[in-house]
Amino acid sequence: MRIAIFGDIHANLEALQTVLADAQSQYCTDYICLGDVVGYNANPSECLEIVRAMNCPVVKGNHDHDASLDHSLDTMNPVAAEALQWTRNQLSDEQREWLRKLRMVRQVSDFTIVHSTLDQPMRWDYVTNRFDAMSNFAYQFTQVCFHGHTHVPRVYMKSSVVQEIAAESVIIEPGLKYFINAGSVGQPRDGDWRACYVIYDMEERRIVFRRLEYDIEETGRKILAAGLPESLATRLLHGS
Ligand code: ZN
Repeated sequence: MRIAIFGDIHANLEALQTVLADAQSQYCTDYICLGDVVGYNANPSECLEIVRAMNCPVVKGNHDHDASLDHSLDTMNPVAAEALQWTRNQLSDEQREWLRKLRMVRQVSDFTIVHSTLDQPMRWDYVTNRFDAMSNFAYQFTQVCFHGHTHVPRVYMKSSVVQEIAAESVIIEPGLKYFINAGSVGQPRDGDWRACYVIYDMEERRIVFRRLEYDIEETGRKILAAGLPESLATRLLHGS
């Protein structure tokens, strides 16, 4: 079984379509979404409908959560808040209900998926180093867990200590635990603008990170045409 694991799409339709086409050409048979389907970019409704129609396991991201409710966004950074308010207006009640009903954590086969971390997933903590990853591992009862949220692809590996690895591929070794950030489809923040996702080959026990160029000019044009903040288009170019 080859599983495409993708998240932090953030309403970037061009990046999502590119990732799904690649997953198909790479013979993926199953799909898993790590959340943040919406927010920031200009095609929330289209991306939501694509992911929903796939009928695959999906966990809730913080932008999915915020877009699905009506609470004040005052405490959020102003650009993200403006995009989220715009996103709320683009989605139907029924689409927002679909987001609202997404689960926080799921077990799929013999691994776990979560948007942020397994210790208090509703706090939306960011795992940016091996020390942050340690608190997750205390709550990780499967050998492998996939997450997103930071938009930075990364592997955290726990033996007697926790190590952080920026690898293009990794083999799951017996006796070790893995907390793997699949990166971001629609707004990478590791300085590489290309869309990111992972393929998990369960027979080979191998995880491969895929990076793909997509029509970023079109995504940028749509952001400006929608009246969303221009900085959302420029940050895509920088992968930041
Ligand atoms: Zn995100």
